[in-house]
Amino acid sequence: MNPLKPLVLAAILLGSSRLAAQAQATSPGWNNKQCAVVLTYDDAIDVDLDNVVPALDSAKLRGTFYLIGSSPVVTRRLGEWRRAAQRGHELGNHTLFHPCDGRLPNRSWVSPDHDLSKYTVGRAVDEIRANNVLLNAIDGKTARTFAYPCGDLLIDGVNYYDKVKTEFVAARGVAPGLLTAAQAKLDNMDCYSINGQ
Ligand SMILES: [Zn+2]
Repeated sequence: MNPLKPLVLAAILLGSSRLAAQAQATSPGWNNKQCAVVLTYDDAIDVDLDNVVPALDSAKLRGTFYLIGSSPVVTRRLGEWRRAAQRGHELGNHTLFHPCDGRLPNRSWVSPDHDLSKYTVGRAVDEIRANNVLLNAIDGKTARTFAYPCGDLLIDGVNYYDKVKTEFVAARGVAPGLLTAAQAKLDNMDCYSINGQ
């Protein structure tokens, strides 16, 4: 997705609902709850700090904010991200430069310097690890989740996240879907996207 657009994604684990009735017999839910909803916000944009964090705080909710390390909103407002993390919001890894596959339709906005189709797996891995170092310097944490820029998984047919997955708790994708806890694929969690609706 275009990183300039505000975006919220909700990854939902269902334990008990009409939609999950078929799977209910095999799923005990999640930590004895009927479901878990994770609210995630991508791309480190001003509206996250201006509107989203205060709104979540006012409702005593916590969100996951997938930060692009090179975003000027990280540079300019680093202290605010740090304070948000201290209140329990997660700073997730959305890579250093948000590389997306520029060969796909509607990707004319992808810059040649950060076109995933021109990356090596090693470069993608290096930039993800560098972003983890940056995020650790901001929040002091070592356990965090990852979100695939644009939901793109592959470089020349290779899933680059496979090389770093042991360094993350989970990864969020962009495919829509409600999952039972037993069905959840931690390497590429389904979600529902809200973008301008
Ligand atoms: Zn993004």
